[in-house]
Amino acid sequence: MSIKPLVAGNWKMNGLKASAAELDALIEGYDADLAAKADTMICPPFTLVASFAEKAADSAVAIGAQDCHFNVSGAHTGDTSAEMLKDAGASAVIVGHSERRADHAESNEIVNAKAKAAWDQGLVAIICVGETEAERKSGETLNVVGFQLEGSIPQGATAANTVIAYEPVWAIGTGLTPTAEDVAEVHKFMRDELVKAFGAEGANMRLLYGGSVKAANADELMAVANVDGALVGGASLKAADFLGILAAY
Ligand code: PEP
Repeated sequence: MSIKPLVAGNWKMNGLKASAAELDALIEGYDADLAAKADTMICPPFTLVASFAEKAADSAVAIGAQDCHFNVSGAHTGDTSAEMLKDAGASAVIVGHSERRADHAESNEIVNAKAKAAWDQGLVAIICVGETEAERKSGETLNVVGFQLEGSIPQGATAANTVIAYEPVWAIGTGLTPTAEDVAEVHKFMRDELVKAFGAEGANMRLLYGGSVKAANADELMAVANVDGALVGGASLKAADFLGILAAY
């Protein structure tokens, strides 16, 4: 069975109400031809999830979020639950992004609990993994990615409820990307680990590459075996750039 790619945009802490114009342009440009080849999603900041979901409701563009708490509700000032995201119209949530792991000390256990919380609300969990520059230089990449996969993905993961994003930390927002061979090595390793852990579900799970993807390198990166799409930061903020990446399919 072939896996339909997903190109997801992570807007991070960017975007105001006026940025809805970029969503409009994406909806307009994401025609039936593109939609037949790859699914797409925008993950705006929390403040825009509800309005974006409303705007995109009649389109083929899905709306996700960038994080959730692992509890459904309670005394967690400033946090947002998966139930709230679902209520706002999100269909997916990114968990374990390296910026959250670094800025908020999120461990694999926390990421695992967040993924479960997402599933409990019927949201797809986009679980991020990836090595730092020091880890790559010391030859630890596969060990680190394997450890993160094992700890961050709950039992019960399926191709429908889980997407994995391999994002080398050193490639995020830097303009640097691994070689196609390096991406192929990590994605083959992840596929094998996921098949070992989840059988046919692991074989069909989407494995995204993320880290400085742009229109100019999307053709090469998206053609790598076991790369089933992209998680895109900076180049997802402008619809024209993002559509340029989708055009790789
Ligand atoms: C990201 O943060 O998920 C990301 C891939 O960022 P960028 O594309 O800007 O490197």
